[in-house]
Amino acid sequence: MSDCCSIKSPAETTLAETAKAGTNTCPECGQPGKSVETKTLKHTVQPQHLEPVNIPGFLFCRSADCDVIYFHPDGDCFRKPDVRVRVGLKETQDPVPLCYCFGFTDAMVREEIQATGKCTLPQRITAEVKTGNCACEIRNPQGACCLGNVTAAMRVMERSSVNR
Ligand SMILES: [Zn+2]
Repeated sequence: MSDCCSIKSPAETTLAETAKAGTNTCPECGQPGKSVETKTLKHTVQPQHLEPVNIPGFLFCRSADCDVIYFHPDGDCFRKPDVRVRVGLKETQDPVPLCYCFGFTDAMVREEIQATGKCTLPQRITAEVKTGNCACEIRNPQGACCLGNVTAAMRVMERSSVNR
């Protein structure tokens, strides 16, 4: 089983993965990608792309302002219209999905922080992860646990609500 949901922190790209320097950077934005499993791609891309994603080695582009979702060092590239889900990292208009297993969105974090000054989503997600109810490696287009995205969104909103 994948350890993507280890509570501590989402697995970072390992040194082995970055060893192939030069081949793992996004053709559009030049940022290094994060490797994703074929299984994740199968659950994310449009049906006409099911065959091309059979080759291993696809990477996910994490840049917020880049249109590329997945790319392969050999040249294949999938953009927003090529995938079936909204990739929260790359969306600014509601709904901005944060957690794909349980459906939490950016707006839910915002509403909770505005109403109560804090956000309990990470605890609620962690509780579900602990009981084995998450499926991030399949449902999350990044193929990894969403907790990092949720806490990042929280920090941004907490900061902006303090500054207001
Ligand atoms: Zn990119």
